[in-house]
Amino acid sequence: MNIANLLTRTARNYPTYPALAHGTSTVATYREFEAASAGLAGALLTECGLQPGDRVALIMKNHPQYWIALFAIWRAGLVAVPVNAKLHLTEFDYILQNSDSRLCFATPELAKELAGLTSAPRIVDITSAAFERMKQQAPQPLADTAPDDLAWLFYTSGTTGKPKGAMLSHRNLLAATLSYFADVTGHNPGDAIIHAAPQTHGSGLYGLPVLAKGGIQVTPDSGGFDPAETLELIQHYTNCCFFFAPTMIHRLIGSDAFKGADTSNIKMIVYGGGPMYEADIRKALDAIGNRFCQIYGQGEAPMTITALSNWELGNTDHPRRSERLASVGTERTDVEVRVVDDAGTPCPVGEVGEIVVRGDVVMMGYWKNEAATHDTIRDGWLYTGDMGCFDADGFLTLKDRSKDLIISGGTNIYPREIEEVLLTHASVAEVSVVGRYHPDWGEEAVAFVVGTNPASPPSPADLDSFCLTHMARFKRPKDYIFLTELPKNNYGKVLKTELRRRLETDQAG
Ligand code: ATP
Repeated sequence: MNIANLLTRTARNYPTYPALAHGTSTVATYREFEAASAGLAGALLTECGLQPGDRVALIMKNHPQYWIALFAIWRAGLVAVPVNAKLHLTEFDYILQNSDSRLCFATPELAKELAGLTSAPRIVDITSAAFERMKQQAPQPLADTAPDDLAWLFYTSGTTGKPKGAMLSHRNLLAATLSYFADVTGHNPGDAIIHAAPQTHGSGLYGLPVLAKGGIQVTPDSGGFDPAETLELIQHYTNCCFFFAPTMIHRLIGSDAFKGADTSNIKMIVYGGGPMYEADIRKALDAIGNRFCQIYGQGEAPMTITALSNWELGNTDHPRRSERLASVGTERTDVEVRVVDDAGTPCPVGEVGEIVVRGDVVMMGYWKNEAATHDTIRDGWLYTGDMGCFDADGFLTLKDRSKDLIISGGTNIYPREIEEVLLTHASVAEVSVVGRYHPDWGEEAVAFVVGTNPASPPSPADLDSFCLTHMARFKRPKDYIFLTELPKNNYGKVLKTELRRRLETDQAG
């Protein structure tokens, strides 16, 4: 079992179909894609002297050559280490060293930056003549890897601490790919997945189901997310699919380019990786229709733990529509999901506990970190660190990450609940709620707010009375801090640690 076999099969079935594109230009057919990755795999094992199991880092902005490098790594029986391109040089250094990467593929600017590291492995610029030469080496046959061989060493984004390398095997990746067809959507040749979210993030793995069915991987020319460019690509490709962070949907729909744009070529927008507030999904459904599917997953269990299907999202007649829209759906076909208390005992319906998962998508553990592995995988269950509850129909609602939970006077306050309420205020565009130390209560909630019109933000008194009409008194934020934007990582996830740090600094000052 080698995940690179997906490409071999598709290249056999659809050799002349477009496989990779940069903007609107085709870069390679499936036959060319496979040939290039086979040549590159040969170069990795011969010219570069790598051994099966060695790690190869991918530090790059979105680029079509990413796919050739990734499949060459797998084909050769090596391990891909995808790295967030927005990290600091010291963080690249940490990941390269921690993973013992023997080689690193990079886009040109990053290759230059990485060359400055004294301990860097060999860096190969994927736009260089050397890379082109490597692709033309004698083709390497598909390595005979075992199902549990390591394939994808994915470093968590570190929003809750130092990045840890989640170890995913060929089996894990195949399970994630196959389950996608059962629970998200089917694909056909001619479908286009437009990679506006970072390819090196777990969301890039959504390229695999499209590849398995002969669709095309499209990297926008800008290498990232730009609403106007995204809408242009939608005019060019039929049956467009996306993986979007919730903030991207928000930005797409709110952009000037969206007004009056023809969106009929959108086949499916999968979203997840962070909370999508009910008010936002309602707006998105009104704007585009129910061509959405929500997934809940994490680097340790990609791509998906639960899914809220487009059918559910479009089911406007459901008596508990609000609760459904606020949920992350039901467990996927290949995973088991439970909500447990501190002793690991399943909680009754409606009771909040920690979400635990087991199944073929669950990682094997953390790289070189037995303590964290022990802490996270207990009795075969992955402890996600997320709090949530099931309803009687098996729909899971996330409350928050346990680390973001605010405990005030011994009572739990879920920031997400407050955020959901504040977002329905007409003058609030974005909000993030975090806990601040309080000498009597332990913690209190503080809201960071971005106004719809930053020149005249709403008054704290107005927001406070709004909260008082929508939630228990003790939950409401005790302070409002207005920002022009919230700190986010390159996937668009709010960095709550930065907000907490800011509060600590203010308190210390
Ligand atoms: P770290 O683990 O280092 O803190 P991270 O938070 O970025 O990094 P990821 O694996 O990228 O880790 O994100 C997974 C987390 O994102 C989940 O555990 C959950 O808290 C949140 N998440 C994922 N999908 C959804 C969703 N559909 N709705 C709400 N939150 C989600």
